[in-house]
Amino acid sequence: MSDIIFAAKALTKTYISGEMQVLALRGLDLKIYAGEVVVLLGPSGSGKSTLLNIMGGLDHATSGQLFFRNLDLTNLDDRGLTAYRRQHVGFVFQFYNLIPSLTAYENVALVTEISSDPMRPDEALALVGLETRMHHFPAQLSGGEQQRVAIARAIAKRPDVLLCDEPTGALDSKTGIRVIEALLSVNTQLGTTTLIITHNASIQDVADRVLFFADGQISRMHKNKARQAAAALSW
Ligand code: ADP
Repeated sequence: MSDIIFAAKALTKTYISGEMQVLALRGLDLKIYAGEVVVLLGPSGSGKSTLLNIMGGLDHATSGQLFFRNLDLTNLDDRGLTAYRRQHVGFVFQFYNLIPSLTAYENVALVTEISSDPMRPDEALALVGLETRMHHFPAQLSGGEQQRVAIARAIAKRPDVLLCDEPTGALDSKTGIRVIEALLSVNTQLGTTTLIITHNASIQDVADRVLFFADGQISRMHKNKARQAAAALSW
């Protein structure tokens, strides 16, 4: 039996803006297994970011349950969610949010200095293929390289899960592929459970599963048997 890392049961999220109610998640049931790479696909507004934000402890669900292992995230207050995020979650967003006056190494070191069991910044940067660019400033790096620094920063604290919201959204498709390769390499080497919202077609073929979202629900799921078989062999 695979190890379940997230289990959502009848999860809903309703946003209230003025008189309007938006049902962003409509009773979602989902299991995510440890070590998986899962891609979330679907039209804009279908609830992908809402789910990722709730899984990452950035937002509260409205009803239903979401377990991270044995921890019910829907029972935690803001303080509990902050502790959960710090300990377990790495985020990668479309924009890299690097500090321009710090080198790649120093940007990663900012995180490792406040984590309990971090890897060294140079180790994290080597995992994304940037060992020769460690002492460059963000302005001296391409967009794809900057995103790889952001990935190194996210994984340096050894999170259990890596949540990526449109990590290649600001990149051309060729550069985007390098970023996706970096994410897959981290997954293979560290076993970090990885969820990725992306429109980049190339990752759909290399993910373990693709979840298709429509109107706040998962409308269908595609399992990539080839990748699952390869992963089983490598363990
Ligand atoms: P996706 O990531 O698939 O584009 P989202 O999860 O961002 O979709 O949004 C789902 C729905 O929830 C959309 O209708 C969106 O407008 C709405 N929504 C998202 N965030 C908020 C918010 N903070 N306030 C009000 N409505 C929101």
